[in-house]
Amino acid sequence: MKHYIIPIFVPHKGCPHDCIFCNQKKITGQYKEITSNDVEDIIYEHLSTINKNESYIEVSFYGGSFTAIPLSQQNELLAVAKKFLEQGKIDAIRLSTRPDYINHDILNNLKSFGVKNIELGAQSMDDDVLKKLCRGHTSEDVKNASRLIKDYGFNLGLQMMIGLYGDTEEKDIKTAEEIIKLQPNFVRIYPTLVVKDTYLEVLYNNGFYKPLEIDEAVNISKKLYKMFVKNNIYIMRIGLQVSEDFTLGKNVVAGPFHPAFRELVESKLLNEMIESIIHNYFSETDIVNITVSNKTLSKIYSDKKKYFFDMLKQIDSKKIVIKQDNALETFEILFETDEKRKNMSLFEFISNEG
Ligand code: SF4
Repeated sequence: MKHYIIPIFVPHKGCPHDCIFCNQKKITGQYKEITSNDVEDIIYEHLSTINKNESYIEVSFYGGSFTAIPLSQQNELLAVAKKFLEQGKIDAIRLSTRPDYINHDILNNLKSFGVKNIELGAQSMDDDVLKKLCRGHTSEDVKNASRLIKDYGFNLGLQMMIGLYGDTEEKDIKTAEEIIKLQPNFVRIYPTLVVKDTYLEVLYNNGFYKPLEIDEAVNISKKLYKMFVKNNIYIMRIGLQVSEDFTLGKNVVAGPFHPAFRELVESKLLNEMIESIIHNYFSETDIVNITVSNKTLSKIYSDKKKYFFDMLKQIDSKKIVIKQDNALETFEILFETDEKRKNMSLFEFISNEG
């Protein structure tokens, strides 16, 4: 089944907060207010291109803090999605919001419209960082909201950012540990980018903020990836969605921007796995055949084979021969010599690590 998301952008008019990395003025200025007719049109437009029998279809309200907009507007938009849900034309409704806009009344209302997944922008679980970001909520708010969402039986998603103003790698790891304790169903990891017309841009231009380099962001994300995999938490996304406006040099001023950031992280992990298995399971004289699917190979070779070449430097490059077999699962790697055979997926490898 292909997971298909129908995105509905709900511009957050007059968000009372001013997070230093967000340029909500630009966002709210760019988009007109959305109506129930718009929602209906968007859903129909997407459905006309989807094969329902082969797809799991979710309508997703995103673009800020859904439950912070007036209740009447929330209900107007949700009613349309609910209609499609009841008709069996879509399978689920999801939305994202802030942790301080979750309470019993809000959750009861969302339940009545059949919402399934609620994502909270946690960003950090370090209160000093949250204060520096002017988020307007604390880590305790994230914990309370998360527990409540789970108590009500919704699927919980938590979003975190790395490389924030006032952040360190240790704080990012600590944030991931706190998130794991809350047992979300899924997470998203966003490396912080300096976006045009934000206070973060001012800090950056005046030398008070230094964004992560791309390698640093990949390294931290790699560690978080392993932590979430070990704890069976699904990683829905790593890195921001790229749009025409949202590219380096346009609205992104600086930071670890890459159009396929997740691929970089997975490439690094796959190449480290190959290196470790070659070192630990095979002898100096072995010539090891490494078989992977096309999809896995493109991950291994990601970013002009950057991490692949790093891995070759660590082993004797003559020792491996890469082969392709699409019968293998994505992330599954088969290592073979005439005498030895080892088949392992990246997730197994991560889970078995100490
Ligand atoms: S990140 Fe969300 S809560 Fe913060 S200013 Fe932007 S829209 Fe408002």
